[in-house]
Amino acid sequence: MSDFDSIYAHKPVIQIGVSSCLLGEKVRYDGGHKQNAYIIQTLGKYFEFKSFCPEMSIGLGVPRETLRIIETSSGHRCVRVIDSSFDVTDQLTQLADEQRHWPSGLCGYVFKKGSPSCGIGGGKLYRGEHISLDAVGVFAKR
Ligand code: SF4
Repeated sequence: MSDFDSIYAHKPVIQIGVSSCLLGEKVRYDGGHKQNAYIIQTLGKYFEFKSFCPEMSIGLGVPRETLRIIETSSGHRCVRVIDSSFDVTDQLTQLADEQRHWPSGLCGYVFKKGSPSCGIGGGKLYRGEHISLDAVGVFAKR
């Protein structure tokens, strides 16, 4: 055990929220995951994880149609790629509001990069035919 490990062995539990797919849970649109070994094996030694998947929590299920962020006259909206009339922006925002008490028990979050729900930066923003990489996931933004 390293000095760092031994220090943390006696610390109280530090709980952080983590996008479920990064923990290996099969919650992605295609039934897959994005398991991240660093989070599980290294951060897992020092933190307790509270798993969350906003898209599953609003009932989209697996498998599901993919979502994306588009720019509209009423702001950025999270919609289905194949049908922009299927808009889950309000549901994701409401879910984040319902989980507003979470941060009082958590010391931070690890969000899945680029997700239209979880990404805190670098997500694709569609403006008609133009795509930029400055979208923020609706849940993460809230
Ligand atoms: S909504 Fe978040 S947790 Fe769920 S699959 Fe997408 S990135 Fe992962």
